[in-house]
Amino acid sequence: MRPSVLFPLFAPVTTIPGIGPRFAKLLEKIGLTRVVDLLWHLPTGIVDRRYAPKIADAEAGRVVTLVVRVDRHLPPGNPRLPYKVRCFDDTAWLHLVFFRPKPDYLAAALPVGEVRVISGRIERYRDEIQMTHPDHVGTYEDYGSIATVEPVYGLTAGITPKVMAKAVRTALGRAPTLPEWLDAALVAREGWQAWQPSLAAIHVPADEAALDPQSQPRRRLAYDEMLANQLALALVRARHRRLPGTPIAGDGRLRDQARAALPFTLTGGQEAAIAEIAGDMASDFRMLRLLQGDVGSGKTVVALMAMLDAVEAGFQAAMMAPTEILARQHHATIAPLAAQIGVEVALLTGRESARARGAVHEGLAEGRIPIVVGTHALVQEDVVFKALGMVVIDEQHRFGVHQRLALTTKGEGVNVLVMTATPIPRTLMMCAYGDMDVSRLAEKPAGRQPIDTRVAPTERLRDLLDGLDRRLRQGARAYWVCPLVEESEQVDLAAATDRYEALCRRFGADRVGLIHGRQKTAERDLAMARFAAGETRILVATTVIEVGVDVPEATVMIIEHAERFGLAQLHQLRGRVGRGKDASTCVLLYQGPLSDNAKARLEIMRETEDGFRIAEEDLRLRGAGEMLGTRQSGMPAFKLGDPLAHADLIEIARDDAKLMLERDPGLDSVRGQALRTLLYVFERDAAVRLLRSG
Ligand code: ADP
Ligand code: MG
Repeated sequence: MRPSVLFPLFAPVTTIPGIGPRFAKLLEKIGLTRVVDLLWHLPTGIVDRRYAPKIADAEAGRVVTLVVRVDRHLPPGNPRLPYKVRCFDDTAWLHLVFFRPKPDYLAAALPVGEVRVISGRIERYRDEIQMTHPDHVGTYEDYGSIATVEPVYGLTAGITPKVMAKAVRTALGRAPTLPEWLDAALVAREGWQAWQPSLAAIHVPADEAALDPQSQPRRRLAYDEMLANQLALALVRARHRRLPGTPIAGDGRLRDQARAALPFTLTGGQEAAIAEIAGDMASDFRMLRLLQGDVGSGKTVVALMAMLDAVEAGFQAAMMAPTEILARQHHATIAPLAAQIGVEVALLTGRESARARGAVHEGLAEGRIPIVVGTHALVQEDVVFKALGMVVIDEQHRFGVHQRLALTTKGEGVNVLVMTATPIPRTLMMCAYGDMDVSRLAEKPAGRQPIDTRVAPTERLRDLLDGLDRRLRQGARAYWVCPLVEESEQVDLAAATDRYEALCRRFGADRVGLIHGRQKTAERDLAMARFAAGETRILVATTVIEVGVDVPEATVMIIEHAERFGLAQLHQLRGRVGRGKDASTCVLLYQGPLSDNAKARLEIMRETEDGFRIAEEDLRLRGAGEMLGTRQSGMPAFKLGDPLAHADLIEIARDDAKLMLERDPGLDSVRGQALRTLLYVFERDAAVRLLRSG
């Protein structure tokens, strides 16, 4: 249960005076539904209203706060002209200008003969000193609250700056004084203030410097958030390890057979990963290990070996992939190999017929099926295992954490291996996984050749097609990727279809295939299969091929509008070629003119194939926000912290969380109790529950 001291923070925004259902609806559009959301809504700028000259001295273009006396109202003769109110001080006249005014309001706000404090931007128009639609009009008593530094907030249509500022101010008033959850030594070293004053410093900024992510208050709040995140991850991990693991120790029999059946020799990296995984599984702890390896580094076979380890020991294993295509592909890779050594691998994706699904369900429940590969259909309630001992989760950042947990609860002490093909920068990795065990496949399988990457403007299309023609004559196979433009899938599809038709005209319809996200699975699988079999030579695709497909004979990758893709995505796409013995080429076609940033990004692609370097550069060039964007939904989205700007804090937070749980695993000490509150503040409630039940 959330501590009651936090109730006001988690109350709906409608508890704020002036925010009724209408405003609440508008605020909801930008994700502000509760009081606490307003606190996390950081200012994006400031307006300094402390410049308070006499009217005659006021510099045009600047925001000023002026003390004036109202002289007279000047309603226009023609309604299209503005309504003016003339004011003065002892140096000059000032004309306040209002378009489409409400005269009643103006009469009340600016009574003739009275002194008023007004604030807004000064303009000079012909000989007049003017201010159009002042931001503030108040009485002399309001001077102190108007002539200040005002925070500027991200808004949405219908919410004025004034409404927003007032709402945030009220929210700030509701922020309770909370016990300090940070380590005193750290606070002293960084010179931080407590939580509540830090929030106030951000929402009542003294100057521009308060907006700097490296300002002390911002760092403090970022650290709070990072710490909550690390602590939650550490708790999940601690609990995972504390649960009695099922020690799984195979005798190596099936793995040896599989090795013998493989058409290649495993790399040193693959063997090392297999050994690390086997070590984890044999221990009393539950395994929670990340297998990280660049595209094409050969993770699947490592996963298979791990699953065979479980099968040898008499358990079942499940592998979950994020998409239908990928699940099928894994199955297609693994099943024949396993069949050679007499191990059945079932497929479960939710697309199979009810009868086929029923058979798999039965086989799993009775323990007849040792290995199953599937999509999230695996976590459905009616899927029951006789003795699930380990699960492999591929491309896990696409799954929510709860889905991951759901699968692991289908057995006792289930060992978990997470695979990710996206090379994630170290800091982001820590945000997403905390202090998880990691095996990395650094080297590529032997015999791979570097991919020759070229960058070319769309104008070179004709030359490109001639070159492609030559390659095809030599027997090559090519992917041709058309990007998805956010706005409209229809338009995208049209672009891909147009390209497909153009290529059909040039190379012959029987040699060109097309796959996209709107196709029926069967249709897509057929197109994929024909390309894999070499019946078609060019496969035009929208980014559905991004994940996983494996056709070693494909040696040409053409990506249109490469400038629209993120680096990580380009890297993933490029990784679809260069998988076989033959030399591969990747052409990044761009539509100029390119921004400097876009140029730099394409240049990096040309320079390196090192996924980790690309990921670091991507983070640097795009910022963490983009990388953590909605597409990779499993990644925590931070409200106050920025994995790039606050990378140093993430490391400190990780060590802090780890040390804390070593000393006080139940979070019972004074600081431990305060940390529980922190977890609630950042809504890691689930993590607190782990404490209770653990
Ligand atoms: P990823 O890490 O992207 O999932 P895969 O597991 O799909 O990579 O492997 C990519 C390709 O490399 C597959 O065709 C696989 O059979 C092959 N492969 C894996 N390990 C080796 C190896 N040691 N030597 C040669 N080829 C390998
Ligand atoms: Mg793979």
